[in-house]
Amino acid sequence: MFQKILIANRGEIALRIQRACRELGIRSVSVFSEGDRNARSVKLADQAICIGPAQSSRSYLDMAAVIGAAEATKSDAVHPGYGFLSENALFAQRVTESGLGFIGPRAETIRLMGDKVSAKAEMLKAGVPCVPGSRGALTQNSDETLAEADRIGYPVIIKAAGGGGGRGMRIVRERDELLPAVTMTREEAGRAFGNPEVYMEKFLEKPRHVEIQVLADSHGQAVWLGERDCSLQRRHQKVIEESPAPHIDRNQISKVGEQCAEACRQMGYIGAGTFEFLYEDGAFYFIEMNTRVQVEHPVTEMVTGIDIVREQILVAAGERLSFSQGDIGIRGHAIECRINAEDPVSFMPMPGKIEQWHIPGGPGIRVDSHAYAGYEVPPYYDSMIGKLIAYGQTRAHAMQRMRVALREFSVEGIKTNIPLHRDLMNDAEFEKGGVTIHYLESKLHASAP
Ligand code: ADP
Repeated sequence: MFQKILIANRGEIALRIQRACRELGIRSVSVFSEGDRNARSVKLADQAICIGPAQSSRSYLDMAAVIGAAEATKSDAVHPGYGFLSENALFAQRVTESGLGFIGPRAETIRLMGDKVSAKAEMLKAGVPCVPGSRGALTQNSDETLAEADRIGYPVIIKAAGGGGGRGMRIVRERDELLPAVTMTREEAGRAFGNPEVYMEKFLEKPRHVEIQVLADSHGQAVWLGERDCSLQRRHQKVIEESPAPHIDRNQISKVGEQCAEACRQMGYIGAGTFEFLYEDGAFYFIEMNTRVQVEHPVTEMVTGIDIVREQILVAAGERLSFSQGDIGIRGHAIECRINAEDPVSFMPMPGKIEQWHIPGGPGIRVDSHAYAGYEVPPYYDSMIGKLIAYGQTRAHAMQRMRVALREFSVEGIKTNIPLHRDLMNDAEFEKGGVTIHYLESKLHASAP
């Protein structure tokens, strides 16, 4: 087992990983930028080391600084968390080449899944259902491109193979818009991602976002841990997530889950991962795989009782998964609200000093956060300051507990999106369950002054 793990991240996930290490009796090192000197994970750390200025490109994204910190502190493994370097294949490779354990899949797996064209090809091989689309990347041949779109049927979406964060995509509704759109997306993709390759998919008009959580060890065992519905999004950013996904046939989910586990076995996947799907008219369509722990992992932990971060560490150290698919049961329902330091109406980030911080409690309530009274939310990073998770026997029960918890949650000194969450927990459509990925934006648009 690892003796000391370097946590290459910040915020709530740094604290989450620190807790998992402590439970396992593993020492951990917290890295921090000059902008995060007062972070909770630093205060509580076994050991902490500054890796550079506040700017992420010179600290959390600086591979040499992170690996240098691991070496200087005699760590034997690196946990990348989410965001930052977590899905950077070169980073995983360098960590491994430095003789350190990487808590995640192999670099070549990250590379394979990071390119959406190769990821999709891999999924098709494993029998995972994908959005109907072009056979691989689009060629320079215009006639071929037009023919592909005719075969798929309009509207289509042109997507960058190297795209991410909801960027590098263009919807095309008419045949005469196709070629200019392909050219523009190619140019943008080349500039933004250093890879001009693009591909085409059928554009789904009213999908839900449903994803499957997997865990795999280095001995060829892979399991899936149910699904999450993350359809409530704004600008491709998830706002609320839940598990299980409402109103989807359990047999159908089992079938897709099993296909995801099979894809993991096929590619020799190691660690935690997420298969993201669009779900429309009763069918699942794979869009991409995230090769890391996700922000919304707690809802899965609540309904399965499995500690995903702990398992990540154990399988990275070479241990076998201690349970098989038959041992995994989904019990009850869990909902997560992402708490952001932002204006609840304009969505402008609102960094600043938290004067008062009272978190809710009681049965089924979990708060994962690095914030505290007196904490200064830095302006340099993502505005998420915590996650509130409510568990209940049924979806209605989880929602009711969430309403009670949101009433109790009190933050003063900065603005947060807690009022938005209170509003959403009383939204009739959300209450019914199964809204599409466009629901939140259209609701916000309708209520805009
Ligand atoms: P990224 O890595 O940038 O997040 P994804 O492939 O996951 O890219 O797509 C991001 C979002 O774009 C999806 O969550 C969905 O809202 C939209 N999207 C992607 N592909 C399609 C599609 N074929 N039809 C409709 N919407 C799509």
